[in-house]
Amino acid sequence: MTKKAEAILSVLRESEGHLTADGVYLACRNAGVEVSVATVYRCLSSLAEEGLIRRFSVSGEPEYFDKTPTAHEHLFCSRCKRVTDAKSADVHRLLEETFGITLENYDLSMHVVCRDCRGA
Ligand SMILES: [Zn+2]
Ligand SMILES: [Zn+2]
Repeated sequence: MTKKAEAILSVLRESEGHLTADGVYLACRNAGVEVSVATVYRCLSSLAEEGLIRRFSVSGEPEYFDKTPTAHEHLFCSRCKRVTDAKSADVHRLLEETFGITLENYDLSMHVVCRDCRGA
């Protein structure tokens, strides 16, 4: 891994966990990491290919990068666009018990209005 990729990975790991490439770029700048937007895009792609981070998409939004590489569900607030991990549904067990199949990987985002936005 290059020094820049390492720096980008640690910036993502120190964030709340879900950022777009532009968000990662801004976080890098705030952390004093000198990288270009192109480098951020390239490094994020290779980190995702190596399985160190996970990329996922929410319809109508730019791609997000997740510091947690294992499969899990997301709650996406359609107002503030914040992404939260959801661990409520045990999708693996559901599929095994109901259909007798093993889930290999999945990408599930649920569109919600988060508690903060609902209260506002
Ligand atoms: Zn919200
Ligand atoms: Zn996540």
